[in-house]
Amino acid sequence: MARLPTEHGATGVFGGTFDPVHHAHLRLARAFRDEIGLDRVHLIPAGQPYHRHSQPGASPAQRLAMLELAIAGEPGLIADGREVRRHGHAYTVDTLQELRHELGPGAELWFLIGGDALETLHTWQRWPQLLQLANLAVALRPGFTAARLHPDVAACWQARQVSDFSNRTPSGTIRALALPPITLSATEVRQQLASGQDCSALIAPEVLAYIRRHQLYR
Ligand code: ATP
Repeated sequence: MARLPTEHGATGVFGGTFDPVHHAHLRLARAFRDEIGLDRVHLIPAGQPYHRHSQPGASPAQRLAMLELAIAGEPGLIADGREVRRHGHAYTVDTLQELRHELGPGAELWFLIGGDALETLHTWQRWPQLLQLANLAVALRPGFTAARLHPDVAACWQARQVSDFSNRTPSGTIRALALPPITLSATEVRQQLASGQDCSALIAPEVLAYIRRHQLYR
């Protein structure tokens, strides 16, 4: 269904480690933009992800540089380095608050989350506030089942899910993307790079060239 015009347009936020950015991320960013009808999607690499057990293989600045290379020239996709530049931990809720402040209270704001991340949403800093600040677009990953959600998150999933755009709001709704899930992760890309396999089908050529130049993930 066509998007109803809003005063400020619609903005999407796609956060991730992007270590490195791969084709599933790009496919997802495009589906997020096109399915929700967003005017712009901010792809925001995490600075120091507090919820990751192991440290990423590339530095925050390198992950941002690879993202910039991967989306160069893509309409509506923006590499946003605000979390990389911020000192200390950057929580999603703080980033959304900052964007809400920049866009104003009436602007439509969407936050994209993978189904795997939804399963741990209850552990995120001030998670209920996320839905006060933004709508949630959920990208299902293989194996996703709502039965694995924390009861509080499952209650939101039940109560706030919408399937059409007849009543667009600045925040507060949840929508699952129709994009069929694919099995690809940055972990797999890093493993293949470390074992010297050809990753050209999984990441952009410019990103692969950057990885080689900077001798990453070896
Ligand atoms: P890693 O393997 O290092 O944990 P990842 O490939 O899952 O990384 P992230 O940068 O952590 O990538 O992902 C950013 C976001 O993209 C997350 O919300 C994640 O769920 C989502 N995502 C990544 N790959 C896919 C995929 N194949 N299908 C759906 N969502 C994905």
